Amino acid sequence: MNKTIRDLSDICKEHRFDEKLLFVPSYAVGHQIGESLARAGHAWINLRPTTVSGYAQGLVGIDLARDGIRLIDSRERLMIVEEIFRRDKELNRPGSYFAGADEIPGILKCLGGSIHELRMEGFEPEDLDPSCFIVPGKGEALRRLLSGYEKFLTENGLIDRAGLIDAARRVLKEGKVTSSPRIVMVLSDLPLSGIEKDLVRLAGGDDLIVIGHEPVRGLRCPKRFSGAPGTGISKPRPVRSDIELLPFLFEPEEAPPPVKDNSVSLFHALGESNEVREVLRRVLASGTPLDDVEIVLTKSEPYAHLLYEITRSLEVPATFSGGVPITYTRPGKGLILYLQWQSEDFPEKHLMRLFGGGYLDIGSIEDKEKRPSPARIASMLREAGIGWGRDRYEPRLNALKASYLTMAEQKRRDGEEEKALFFEELASRLDGVVQYFRKLFDTISFRSPVENTTLQNVYRGAMDFVDGFCRVAGELDAAARGAILDALGSMGRSTSATEPAGDVCARLIKTIHEMTVGGSNPKPGHMHVSHYRSFGYTGRRNLFLIGLDQAGFPGPLLQDPILLDRERQNLGHGLLLSGDRMDEDLYTMAKALSSLPGCVTLSFSCRDLREDREMFPSALLLGVYRLISGKREGDYSDLKKYLGKPSGFTSGSTPLNDWEWWLAQKEGYGRSSVFAAYPDLKSGTLAEEERDKEAMSEYDGWIRSSEGILDPLREGVDLSCSRLESLAKCPFAYFIHHVLNVEPLEEMEKEMLRWLEPLQKGELLHEVFHRFMAELVEKGDRPSYKKHLKRLQAIAMEAVERWKAEIPPAGDFAFEREKEEILLTLEIFLKDEEERCKEAEPLHLEISFDEKIGLGEKKGFTLRGRIDRVDRVREHEYEVWDYKTGSSYGFREEGYLDKCRHLQHALYGLAAELILRRKDKKARVVRSGYFFPSPKGEGLRIVKPQVEREKVYRALGDLFELLRTGVFPASCDKDPCGICDYTVICGGKDIAVPRSKRKLEKDRKMAALERVMNHA
Ligand code: SF4
Repeated sequence: MNKTIRDLSDICKEHRFDEKLLFVPSYAVGHQIGESLARAGHAWINLRPTTVSGYAQGLVGIDLARDGIRLIDSRERLMIVEEIFRRDKELNRPGSYFAGADEIPGILKCLGGSIHELRMEGFEPEDLDPSCFIVPGKGEALRRLLSGYEKFLTENGLIDRAGLIDAARRVLKEGKVTSSPRIVMVLSDLPLSGIEKDLVRLAGGDDLIVIGHEPVRGLRCPKRFSGAPGTGISKPRPVRSDIELLPFLFEPEEAPPPVKDNSVSLFHALGESNEVREVLRRVLASGTPLDDVEIVLTKSEPYAHLLYEITRSLEVPATFSGGVPITYTRPGKGLILYLQWQSEDFPEKHLMRLFGGGYLDIGSIEDKEKRPSPARIASMLREAGIGWGRDRYEPRLNALKASYLTMAEQKRRDGEEEKALFFEELASRLDGVVQYFRKLFDTISFRSPVENTTLQNVYRGAMDFVDGFCRVAGELDAAARGAILDALGSMGRSTSATEPAGDVCARLIKTIHEMTVGGSNPKPGHMHVSHYRSFGYTGRRNLFLIGLDQAGFPGPLLQDPILLDRERQNLGHGLLLSGDRMDEDLYTMAKALSSLPGCVTLSFSCRDLREDREMFPSALLLGVYRLISGKREGDYSDLKKYLGKPSGFTSGSTPLNDWEWWLAQKEGYGRSSVFAAYPDLKSGTLAEEERDKEAMSEYDGWIRSSEGILDPLREGVDLSCSRLESLAKCPFAYFIHHVLNVEPLEEMEKEMLRWLEPLQKGELLHEVFHRFMAELVEKGDRPSYKKHLKRLQAIAMEAVERWKAEIPPAGDFAFEREKEEILLTLEIFLKDEEERCKEAEPLHLEISFDEKIGLGEKKGFTLRGRIDRVDRVREHEYEVWDYKTGSSYGFREEGYLDKCRHLQHALYGLAAELILRRKDKKARVVRSGYFFPSPKGEGLRIVKPQVEREKVYRALGDLFELLRTGVFPASCDKDPCGICDYTVICGGKDIAVPRSKRKLEKDRKMAALERVMNHA
């Protein structure tokens, strides 16, 4: 039993039935003190632990409520300071000391902290003498801010913690309290600000009892503490256990020799995660009941996260005094995604995560029968190609519905009734989804993150979201939901500021990230996790103090960024200096270590695994080492030797899970055992080994089983030009895309400079050219720049507006820029067509075909496609043209087939001839080519005379051989790799291309590809 508990038990015994008030740092500590008294067999009837704020509230709470004054919390306080700062023109005037502070992350938060600290020490604005500051302007600005803050509170009927304590002091001073407890006590190690100390003194009067704590040798009692230990420090006496040496941590020369009973242990580990795992291994190995274990953190991050994740995955029950990050709960994580979604202009990716991660409750989609699963909604969002932008959701979802219905019609026409019903079903389910999105968007009051909105609007929307859309499953989720609603409610009440919506969301995300939930007192059957500033009261006998690296404890000696030490000294009033804070931390730690029962293990991480650098132990650990080793002069190198090998990913005898067990096996388990347990790993290794060989195998794209199946000369197999060209570019990519039908998951990114995707723009322009030329053909007219430009533009603008409604642009700039480009394209198109149509007659437009193309002697194959234009140039002589709306990059005037990568002109020529001959038996396509009417294509026409038919048949024969034999090697040059979606599968151009080249030289199966590449 430590001195605090001993002293309290004496008082409880002496004043058994009197009301006894005890000031404690938190109600959790008060609870633990009560438990410790009970465990030690002492009654504590009528002992009432309270915090200073709790006591003050008890004194003045009713009066404040009667006067309509509301207490604000620390979040609201910060918001008010920020708002006052932003609103005050003088504070933001160029030249003012803090001008521009709101642009620097964290500075306003520090300012908020300084204002609070000044008030807790009893400073009034007039106490801030500018001459006390190194730069007087800083003092003036702080005085102005403090005065503005106080005025804001008064005008808005608010009170902060300092105001509350001050009000309570006034009540006591004026003697307005009718009844007060006979015994008032305060823990001697309770750090109190100036006004808190005053209140406690007023509450206790001359009879205030300061409850002592275990003597701490070699350290001064910190100035904010209520008192030094009650009794003097006794002379050292022989110790019975090493844990009794810890009071000598800061006075090692006085320490008795060690007993070496292992009651104090040290270890180090490779990374924080292994440190936590080692603690759990030791707990499990020792068989200690979990409710006799306390893990004390020197820093919350990353240890609280790690402990929560690891104990949860191992199903080890644990309580966390500080709670767990709220982002571990569905409402917490869901709200973060919801805010990110808004702040980044509604990209579908965040919404997909909200649905895919199960954070949303979709119960509000009324028709239960037609309610899609969240995963299905996520995939619908992907399919709809929304990308971003609030205004794009509904049109894109409607377009998706239309496409489902078109698919249904098509399937019905093809006699596939089941599939037709499937698509109709999807279409009908989309109605509920659209309704759901409408409701979701109703929670958001702005259309874009750059729009100004009030903070209240954002908070209210976030509350509606958490309340109406977030899934809650379990106690922690319910607690998180309640905590978020409380926080948002109170934050929303004290602000009327207006800011760009995206900035408000981003700040709110930070606030949510800082929130924790589920803080708990120690519970039976659970290990307890606490922080070093509040440990030592649970009475648990097995303690682990973790995170004792140099940066972790006591941390660097840093000055406050707003109030420097010199300024604090000048201002007086007991403001803490940087050294005082460190003294407080050291003393708190030393005091708690001095009174531990049982045994303690201290540890640190000796390696930062993310940055791969060494980390060093805290001086405290060196001090403990000196005590327990008896080597009073020992240094860090001795400590390192003493610690031995750090704990890593493997354990000695107590693996925590299966992979720890596997890693710990030293003999008899090697590659073959790993392969036996993980067959995918085996397959992957085998695949890599095969790919490195000279011969081609199924791991390089030789699909023996497909031999003959994909032969284009078989009935039922049809091809398009683009497919054949992609086969020629890279057979392996062709196999992945067109045979296995693997498509990359694409996330559309918001493009501020672009409205339409290149393919979409191409579709729009093709539609415009077609409508325009069709009108002329019908009238028997020829294109004229002067006569027809307006009509062409009108057709285009009608299409542009229609597309805009379906795919809203990211912004005006992107839209105007693209529109400008479209208008320029029209001009290039019309000028060129005017000249061209003087010698050629546009005859057929957009002919979709499905033709059997004969290959000389051999059977033919079925080719599908759509020809943009067929023009008559002379009797029986025709030209075939394809509009290319991008740049002409990759197209060359010289050559004919370009390694079979440009076949369209030749194949469309063949197909057009077949179609034309149905009416004109002597029809002959004499030329075929590509027209680039965009500004990037500069109106270029690349013409290919159609005279090399034999060459085309040979090229097709070689391409078909690849398909027939099932040989799909990767490309032998890097040209196609630049815009390939499958680099992650083939290994990328630097791996796949050299391998393929090597095999080309050695393996005859690759001969067809070699020939394909030789068709220039
Ligand atoms: S990256 Fe190159 S080699 Fe690999 S699949 Fe794509 S095109 Fe073929």
